This record gives sequence, C-alpha cells and structure tokens, in this order.
Amino acid sequence: MAPLPDPRWRHAVVTGGAGFVGSHLCAALLAQGTDVTCLDDFSTGLPDNTADLHDHPGFTLRRVDVSRPFTVDRPPDLVLHLASPASPADYLRLPLHTLDAGSLGTRNALELARRSGARFVLASTSEVYGDPHEHPQSEAYWGNVNPVGPRSVYDEAKRFGEALTTAHSAAHGTDTCIVRLFNTYGPGMRGHDGRAVPTFVRQALDGEPLTVTGDGRQSRSLCYVDDTVAGILAAAAHGMRGPVNIGNPDEITMLDLARRIIELTGSASQIRFIARPVDDPAVRCPDITLARGKLQWEPRTDMADGLRRTIAWFRARNNSPDRRSAP
Ligand code: NAD
Repeated sequence: MAPLPDPRWRHAVVTGGAGFVGSHLCAALLAQGTDVTCLDDFSTGLPDNTADLHDHPGFTLRRVDVSRPFTVDRPPDLVLHLASPASPADYLRLPLHTLDAGSLGTRNALELARRSGARFVLASTSEVYGDPHEHPQSEAYWGNVNPVGPRSVYDEAKRFGEALTTAHSAAHGTDTCIVRLFNTYGPGMRGHDGRAVPTFVRQALDGEPLTVTGDGRQSRSLCYVDDTVAGILAAAAHGMRGPVNIGNPDEITMLDLARRIIELTGSASQIRFIARPVDDPAVRCPDITLARGKLQWEPRTDMADGLRRTIAWFRARNNSPDRRSAP
C-alpha cells in the first residue's frame, strides 16, 4: 500500500532516522515530497543507513542526542519520534540511555512539536503488552510487564512515553498520535542486533547453527518494513490519537521461522537450542481491527517475499559486516 501523500507535510523531523525503521521512513517521506531533518545520535544506527539520501536536496542529517534539549533550523509540520534503542541486545547494553530516550527524548520531541504546531507521532511498541494474558493483543489490553525485570528499561520507557504523550496532548493541546509497532524486519537490519530475523539470516548465510531460544514454540508476528512505514504514515495522515497497533497478524513460531530461513537461503545449517531470555514473551500477535477500519491499512507483504528480499540484501552486503552489537 502506498503511503498517503499529505500536502500539509512540507517538513518532517524524524528522530532516530538513521536506524532501521527510521531510514526507511525518511526515504518514504522524501519520495512523497516532504523534506526531512533526521536527528540521530548513532548509538544504534549508522550514518550509512541513510547514505542513499545524503545527496537529496530535501534531506538533512544531524548528530543530536534528543534526550538533551535541541533546536532545529526550520519548524517541522510533522515530528516522528523513533529515537530509542530497540533490540534487546542494544537496550540491555544501553539501559539508562534507553530510559532517557523514552522519557527525556520523548519530552523534547513533544516540545518541538508544540512549539512548531506540528503533528507528533510516537513510535511505541508491542512490548507495552509485556508477556500478554490476552491473545491476540488489542489496543484495549493494558499489558503484563515486569517493572523491574531486565526488559523493563525498554518496556517501561515506552509505557512512560505513551503516558507523557497523552498528558502533553491534554495539557497543551499538542496534536499527538501513538503507534504501537510490532516486530518489523527487512533490509537495513544489523546481523548482530540480536533480533530473530537478522540473527537467523546471518547464521544461515555463514553456515553456523541457527540459535533458537527455549523450545522455539514462542511466537512472533513479523511485519515487513515497507508495511510498517506505510502504517506509521497512514496513522500520521489520519489525525487519530491512537494508540493503534501496526503489525502483521501472520504469527509464526521461532522454530518455524528458523526452518523457513534455512529453506529460503538453501543453507546446510542445523538448529541449536539455547536458553530463553528472562521475561521473553511467549506469544505476540496484533489485533489490527482498528488500523484496518480507521486507516484502511493492513500489511501487504507475504512473509516468504519479505524474507527473500531481506536475505538478498544481506547477501548483497556480504552478510552485514556491522558487528557493533555482537552479544
Ligand atoms: P534502531 O536501533 O535501528 O533505530 C533506533 C535509532 O534511534 C538509531 O538510529 C539510534 O542511533 C537512534 N537513537 C537512539 N537513542 C537516541 C537518542 N537519544 N537521540 C537520537 N537518536 C537516538 O531501531 P528500529 O528497529 O529502527 O526502531 C525504531 C523505533 O521503532 C524505536 O523507537 C523502536 O522502539 C520502535 N519499534 C521498532 C520495532 C521493530 O521491530 N523494529 C518494533 C516496535 C517498536
């Protein structure tokens, strides 16, 4: 589904725009005629991720830690706040940075939107549902999160970010929207970021065993990045406040995902079972009734197709040499 062009968006600020999802979002905005200022501290992203955009006259890339006060040269009409470590390997390595990005970073991005009269979109996460007692998860479910477990630095930062966004709108009338993104995959991920798809693809291409945690029966629902970006832009264009789930309800167990990737890469790799991380959710699947009904959005990319494109990207880049987040 092509993102809805919105003539009101002459200039968007994307925090975390040099990350995996952010770089695709910057490209989609530029493609529809919106100038983009990308603010990123490169804590988990890379300037390389936006290399294709650097020559675009509408694109500006600035190294900024959004958890500290910042200004931009030109007021935006859209602020998309994605800045935050997102993979468990990253947020466990950067716990305080992650809490700051969800709290101070969200506050600073909200202030920018208020000062500029811009629409604000918070990239929240399915992790606000924790290890859910409801399945699939609808926006009405409040979640089951351990506030002092190792994952809490991410889950609670995002929950606080949602509360802050809601309060900012109530207190100042800021035009806000919360999108809850579910697991997203695609070209541009780092092979060592610890998330299942890039880990399995890298291992399969290297001929290493694919490390499946626990017994592999835990499920995730994986959304191809183009679909996630289209969902974020549809929510931004709609004017809704959310929260709204953006994800693919096509659920798969981690063991099946590993087998699928072995098959699609033609790898001779075996599967090796390793310990499951603390508080790892057993199931994860979005109820996207709201997004379907209000945004006329739903994911379009079939998993085999999305995985093929991701594998091709890893192959073309010689299997993602970035090893910054090696566990
Ligand atoms: P990513 O790590 O690839 O990108 C995050 C980007 O934010 C990086 O470029 C990083 O350098 C930047 N960043 C982090 N802290 C910052 C700070 N204080 N100031 C400026 N920049 C900062 O992660 P991603 O997968 O692209 O995720 C992007 C956003 O989407 C995150 O907010 C994440 O919580 C959310 N999200 C992603 C997924 C997913 O499956 N990818 C799922 C749910 C939610």
